[in-house]
Order: sequence, then structure tokens, then C-alpha cells
Amino acid sequence: MVLPICDVCLKSGILCPGCGKKFKNGEVTQTELDIAKIIFKLGDGKIGFNRAIDRGDAVIIITDKNQVGQIIGKGGKIVRAITKEIGKKVRVVGDGSDLKSVSSDLIAPARISGINIVYGRDGQEKYKIRVMREDARRIPGKPEQLNAIIKLLTGKETIIVLDDQ
Ligand SMILES: [Zn+2]
Repeated sequence: MVLPICDVCLKSGILCPGCGKKFKNGEVTQTELDIAKIIFKLGDGKIGFNRAIDRGDAVIIITDKNQVGQIIGKGGKIVRAITKEIGKKVRVVGDGSDLKSVSSDLIAPARISGINIVYGRDGQEKYKIRVMREDARRIPGKPEQLNAIIKLLTGKETIIVLDDQ
């Protein structure tokens, strides 16, 4: 599994010419470097991610679909370590996932009861994501922030609401 910088750099803590170049021209960000170091250490070199999006108050780590659980770690161990190091909330999302998977990953541990299409006054298609009412307190962040992240990752307009039942 790949990380944004090579193993040599991760082991030595000093950027090699190749990775240094990537860092200089912005292909790899400081946040990605910080996260890569932690994941390399805690994941025994077996876990990777593709990129990390820094949203100011939160960072979204994009990884292969089958690695989402591993990056979160047992009981959230790895995600907690990253949060501690970079001082930001961390969400992990599978790369190239559909709206349902992206939303589930982002809203977890709150659970989604359903998603349906609604039309705004302007006729624009939006997706209403219904979160189980009993999970209201487990939604990790403000709905408008989560909506913005979902749009960034899937290109779709969403409205996160609590389910009526
Ligand atoms: Zn390197």
C-alpha cells in the first residue's frame, strides 16, 4: 500500500530528492507528510492512503475502500493518534466510493437510515441523507460542513437531516 512519500523518507525522517521535489511543488502537503509518518509507524508499513484534504478544522483522509477500517484502527486508535498529532478532527473515506459509502464513512458513528432525491426550488437535484434520530448526538460535525465535504468528494449536493421516525 502506498503513502505519499517513500519508505526511505518515512524511516529516516528526512526527505529524499524525489519526495523533496514532490513536497516543493505541492504534490504532497505538510499535513500529508505528518499523517504518513504516523500511519507508517502505527500501521507497520502495511497501511496507506492516497491523499488528505485539509479543511481547516478537519482533515479528510482518502484511502482505498478496503483500508478505511485499518486507518481508523482498532477502536479508533490510529485516527486518535493522528488527531492528537495534527490537532484536527480526522475522517477517513474510501477512494472513488459512491455517495452512500462516502456519506456513511463521514457520518459514522451515526448511522444513515436512507438517502433520497429531493428537488430544490430551483429544480436542482439534491440528496437528502437521513440520519437515525437516536444517533443525533453522534454526528461528527456540523451538517453544513459535512455536506460541503460530501460535495467535494462526490460532486453531489446533499442535505443531512434527522429521520422523522
Ligand atoms: Zn522519499
